[in-house]
Amino acid sequence: MPSIKDIMETMEYGPAPESNAEVKDWLAGHADGISHFIGGHFVTPEGPMTTVINPADDSVLARLTKAGADQIDAAVKAARAAQPKWAALGGHARARFLYAIARHVQKRERFLAVLETMDNGKTIRETRDGDIPLVARHFYHHAGWAELLESEFPNHRPVGVCGQVIPWNFPLLMLAWKIAPALAAGNTVVLKPADLTPLTAQAFAEICADVGLPAGVVNIVHGDGETGALLTGHPDVDKVAFTGSTAVGRLIREQLAGSGKKLSLELGGKSPFIVFEDADLDAAVEGVVDAIWFNQGEVCCAGSRIIVQEGIAESFFSKLKARLSALRIGTPLDKTMDVGAVVSRPQLERIRALVATGEAEGAILHSAPAELPAQGTFCAPGFFTGTAPAHRVNQEEIFGPIATTLTFRTLEEAMQLANDTRYGLAATIWSQDIDRAISAAARVKAGVIWINSTNLFDAGAAFGGYRESGFGREGAREGVLEYLAPVLPGSRKERSDPKLVPTFAPRKTKHDVPAIDVTAKLYIGGKQKRADGGQSYSVTGKGGAIIGHAALGNRKDIRNAVEAAAKVGSWANVTGHNRAQVLYFLAENLSQRRAEFESLLIHSTGASSKSAAAEVEASIRRCFWYAAYADKFDGAVHTTRQRHVTLSLNEPWGIMGLVCPDERPLLSMLSLILPAIAMGNSVVAIASQSHPLVATTFYQVLETSDLPGGVVNLITGLREDLAKTLAEHDEVACIWYCGSAAGSAMVERAACGNLKATWTDLGHVRDWLADTEGQGAEYLRRATQIKTVWLPYGE
Ligand code: NDP
Repeated sequence: MPSIKDIMETMEYGPAPESNAEVKDWLAGHADGISHFIGGHFVTPEGPMTTVINPADDSVLARLTKAGADQIDAAVKAARAAQPKWAALGGHARARFLYAIARHVQKRERFLAVLETMDNGKTIRETRDGDIPLVARHFYHHAGWAELLESEFPNHRPVGVCGQVIPWNFPLLMLAWKIAPALAAGNTVVLKPADLTPLTAQAFAEICADVGLPAGVVNIVHGDGETGALLTGHPDVDKVAFTGSTAVGRLIREQLAGSGKKLSLELGGKSPFIVFEDADLDAAVEGVVDAIWFNQGEVCCAGSRIIVQEGIAESFFSKLKARLSALRIGTPLDKTMDVGAVVSRPQLERIRALVATGEAEGAILHSAPAELPAQGTFCAPGFFTGTAPAHRVNQEEIFGPIATTLTFRTLEEAMQLANDTRYGLAATIWSQDIDRAISAAARVKAGVIWINSTNLFDAGAAFGGYRESGFGREGAREGVLEYLAPVLPGSRKERSDPKLVPTFAPRKTKHDVPAIDVTAKLYIGGKQKRADGGQSYSVTGKGGAIIGHAALGNRKDIRNAVEAAAKVGSWANVTGHNRAQVLYFLAENLSQRRAEFESLLIHSTGASSKSAAAEVEASIRRCFWYAAYADKFDGAVHTTRQRHVTLSLNEPWGIMGLVCPDERPLLSMLSLILPAIAMGNSVVAIASQSHPLVATTFYQVLETSDLPGGVVNLITGLREDLAKTLAEHDEVACIWYCGSAAGSAMVERAACGNLKATWTDLGHVRDWLADTEGQGAEYLRRATQIKTVWLPYGE
């Protein structure tokens, strides 16, 4: 008689298919085509149809038409018409609707899981245990934010109509991530799902109708990238939220430049998965399963670059191979499957092509030995060994179930490899040494860090990237803020172009012997530097008199300034208390030279003595305000999953570019510089073009302060030319621009290269003297980016 042990070893899995009868009925009911959902109506599809395929067996599930300009327009109009009433309903009423949606999703959980599996190809285990419960959680969580909106976000208003475009890898989950916060905040939406996976969005539209959501609050339009572009480019959309590839994200950034639309981008990644030699290797192997083989590797934050410490690399790879051979790949509706089908044939071809480049570059592919089903788009999971950091497979998103591996010796080397990517979405760190894990978490440039865990998501934790992985956050308080705008008093004045156009004329003197000619230099790396081109321009003041000369900086000066700013990395690691002290000292020095600055403002801008005095006083106060916040703009500990501490840290960007306006030249410049440096950034600031001597006098204050050289760099010259170079510079992570409407568009376009975050004012003058406009939490928020760190605990 065989022993139980023998039975366990020989036991085969039996088939465990999930029934799809209900979904089949539903599909039969939609045989005429999937409708758009516009203004509360299901619009009968018209025009040429494309098919929606089940990637697991190549069968046709449904047919779809593409929304054209008229339908997009109708959807945006419906959303616009519905928005004021939806906002006026108030947080509590909106909370009830979101709660009703969450309940309906829960009641339809099994149906939605099966539908998602058939549409996307991912396994039923994932849709049933991952996607759909998280969808419900998202609506519950945001029902909560709707309830608390008025008390938690005072002085904020909904943005308006949101155009949202989502990808095919987590269709319903991405829909929930987009729609729930938008609705909670009082916005209405037009959402376009990916044309490969439109079905759960259709089911969601039916849920909206079932719960009696007011017409026009949620509109869903189907179609491909062209439809997406019509939506994101629609002039009456106030906010665009996009998840998808970096290439399309960049197109959208460009398309929206200068439009004033709010934008959040959640893009690609090439996330490091770092295994230190003291890691629990078996747990880390399971981590790899969840990091890259989960969801067929079609995950933007997949741990796709496994970086292993040299001493354990061989044993880790052996364990990975063993685990690969135990993976079950096949019919996604079978509850015993680990890996399902890739979403489409073109996607499978894309994966194969990239894998082929890896092999051509000399890497060795280790694939799961499982036999793949004859039908459908299946891809054997695997990993590469023998890759080099510069190999294409280490730099480009494969977006399939194939990881690369690299090895390292020291923490330093691990960090270099981890950050050797243009992306910065996520990172995973495995180590039993908490000091090592946390110091690695602090040094990896990524928006989400999982320590001894991977691919954890929750509505209560912010998700989003650094660098070319995009900007903006989804989830938690931070995600709600993406759908709100601060309420600003009154209408805003247009800013006129700088009055001073740089020319050179000598300064006239009344004395027989001319005054010693002084040309104010630039301030780079803590030193006064001559402009690279050696040129200067005359600065005129009150009544057109020439009051001095300023250096005419050029693109080389901007580059030198960025280089100097890059050298002071340590400023970010100085304690908030120490940064506060530096700012208080700055206030002290400024105050000692109060009379000099008042006189300079009077002569330079023609301000009255009262107005100049008010500007200097407000500048000193602003130093105090940001000094106060230097050690108080805290992150948060979010309530997410059981036995997890989920930290939300406000990290500085690194190098920020600041373009200062002409009005209130001292106060506006300080209002931009102070929050940036209080949060630990170093800055390259382009001074007021018309009143540069205010900046050049201010750097004398900096010279006598304790600010390390290079933290603040000041360049004078032609605003727009300098701003363009700054916006294009790849080492600058964020740029704030106060200039013209055309300049705002130029900066947003120029920032597309490395997808740097921008804050432009579209040429609207701010009342810098008013604390409500010239300072505040928004400045601090925009001077930082959120890093979410997941830390599990327990035995
Ligand atoms: P895309 O970025 O092209 O698609 C994402 C969404 O944007 C889809 O709804 C798509 O429509 C839509 N879209 C496409 N072009 C435009 C446009 N110009 N303006 C507005 N919307 C547009 O990703 P793909 O589906 O083409 O996948 C390509 C690669 O992108 C993948 O191999 C993968 O590497 C990466 N990717 C990354 C994702 C992420 O989350 N980071 C998600 C998906 C893909 P439609 O699909 O209907 O054409």
